[in-house]
Parts: sequence; C-alpha cells; structure tokens
Amino acid sequence: QAEMAMYHTKKNGRNNMTFYDPSIQQADTRRMVMEDNLHRAVANDEFELYYQPKIHVKTGKIAAVEALIRWNHPVLGQISPAEFIPIAEETGLIVPMSEWVLHTACMQNKRWQEEGMSPMRVAVNISSVEFGEDDFVTKVVNILEETKLSPHYLELEITESVAIKNVGSVIEKLDALKQVGVYISIDDFGSGYSSLSYIKKLPIDALKVDRSFIQDLKANQTEETIVKAIITIAKSLQLDVVAEGVEEQEQVQILRKERCDEIQGYYFSKPLPVSEFEQKYESIERHAMSS
Ligand code: C2E
Ligand code: MG
Ligand code: MG
Ligand code: MG
Repeated sequence: QAEMAMYHTKKNGRNNMTFYDPSIQQADTRRMVMEDNLHRAVANDEFELYYQPKIHVKTGKIAAVEALIRWNHPVLGQISPAEFIPIAEETGLIVPMSEWVLHTACMQNKRWQEEGMSPMRVAVNISSVEFGEDDFVTKVVNILEETKLSPHYLELEITESVAIKNVGSVIEKLDALKQVGVYISIDDFGSGYSSLSYIKKLPIDALKVDRSFIQDLKANQTEETIVKAIITIAKSLQLDVVAEGVEEQEQVQILRKERCDEIQGYYFSKPLPVSEFEQKYESIERHAMSS
C-alpha cells in the first residue's frame, strides 16, 4: 500500500492540487523507518540471501547461483531490494550491507563445496556505490581469503551503469579482479546506454541479457532477432551469454537453439532460501536435463 502511495504522488505530479493525504504520509513514514532501521539490520541479523540457479544449457547442471538479498524487517515484513537498495545507496549503508552480502555468499558457497555439492559459482550483485569505493578490490580479495573460496567460484554482476559511472577506474579494477580469477558479468545487458565499443574494452566474462528482451521472446518475432543478435555479438567478443527472467519452455527452446550458454528464471527456479535450495537443487537439475 505504501508503494501505491508513492506511485500515486509521482504520477499526479505538479499539475494536480494536492490535499493532505494520509497514505502519502504513510509512504514517507515507511521510508523513514527503513532509513532509520537499516543501520541496525546487519547487526540484528535481519538480512537474508536467497539463491537462484543459472542453468548451464548444454549439461543441465547448475553453473552458478545468484545471491539476492532480502530484508526480513521485524515489523514491516520482507522488503524487496528494489525498495531498500536505493535508500542504502543514498545513506552509504550499502557499504557495510554489501560486505555482509559478499562475505555470506562466499562462505555459503565454500560450505556447499565442503558438503560435497558439485562446485558452482556464486554470483553477487555489485552496486555502483560499492564498486566506486577505492578499496573495493582489496575488500573482495580479503573476503576470498577469509572464506577460503577459490576466486573462480565468485562471480560479480555489475550493470552497465556501474561501468559507465566509474569510467576512469573501471578497467583498472576489473583487470585486477580478473587477475585474481574472479568471473565478471554485465547484468541487465541492453537496458542501458553503453556502446559496444565501450563494452569491448572491458575485461569481462559474460553478458546477461536483460529480462525485457526475454519477456516477449517467441519464435519468429522481433525479440528473437534481437536476442539472436545479442548472442552473436557476445560470441564475437568471446563472452558467455546468460538469459535472465526465463519463464516459459518456448523461451528455453529458442535460447538453446541460439546457443545461449546459461539460463536463469522462474521456469527453472525462483530465488530460494538456503534450506529450500539444498532440498531442491537435485530436482532442479533433473528438470533442466530433461527440458
Ligand atoms: P537483478 O540482479 O537483475 O536480479 C533479477 C531480479 O529478477 C531478481 O529480483 C529476481 O528475483 C527476479 N527474477 C528472477 N527470475 C525471474 C523471472 O523469471 N521472472 C521475473 N519476473 N523476475 C525474475 P530481486 O531479487 O527483487 O532483485 C532486484 C534487484 O535488486 C536485482 O536485479 C539487483 O539489481 C538488486 N539486488 C538484489 N540483491 C542485491 C544485493 O545483494 N546487492 C546489490 N547491490 N543489489 C542487489
Ligand atoms: Mg543480477
Ligand atoms: Mg539482472
Ligand atoms: Mg534486472
């Protein structure tokens, strides 16, 4: 309801006369509560990581799991990252939050390997604020050492906007991470404004095709042509291609035909809490191998 109120305010803009509206008041309050409580969220153990598999198309095995943060607020309930990450970025609280995310994801992946699960990458989303920190690379290296996770099993997902906002240092930082052995992908590829000549200069491993291109993907339609073109570009740059937001079998079939490397989406699995992922990963792979 609070989200609705915020939408309502924006949509009506300045052309409408605004009267006192308790629902707007409520949206403001929600934001203030979140801003205030974000400080304590790490210490209070209110964050949780969900994990969503990326399926290796050729084998049907889980190639990676993406860590997606959830905030279990004692009063407001579960809050989506789309709502609190912008607040965390504005307040600088993204920095301690992100350290917690990286550490937890690496530790969890190491634990899974020790428990005998076949090794897979863990993918962590990196915001531009985090990536822009001078000591970002050092932090990543330290966390890898602390958790003893082999760098090859850590993937960082950065968006095109991250790469663009940090033009000066981005290549330097990515090069350093690459040296260490970390796998790097461009998230939401195609949704931003980066030019291909710029992408070409980045030392990255994969492009993750934005969900907007996958959403209406049907055989013999414009979307198929676009996705096909993106895959061709990625291949010519010797990059892996991942599709996000895949929900239907027809999309899987098209992506397989076009030689997409990895597929992620509700069709195979939504993001799951640790215990549920542990219960389901074998059946997710069985389903992937037979589809
Ligand atoms: P993203 O990295 O592009 O993640 C994909 C989002 O799409 C996730 O939403 C995921 O739950 C959702 N999704 C996955 N498969 C499907 C599908 O088949 N259909 C549909 N409709 N949606 C699907 P979520 O978990 O709410 O995360 C939203 C965004 O918040 C992420 O977008 C990412 O940018 C950001 N985020 C999440 N966790 C973190 C984090 O730990 N750190 C940072 N900096 N950002 C994060
Ligand atoms: Mg992502
Ligand atoms: Mg994405
Ligand atoms: Mg996205």
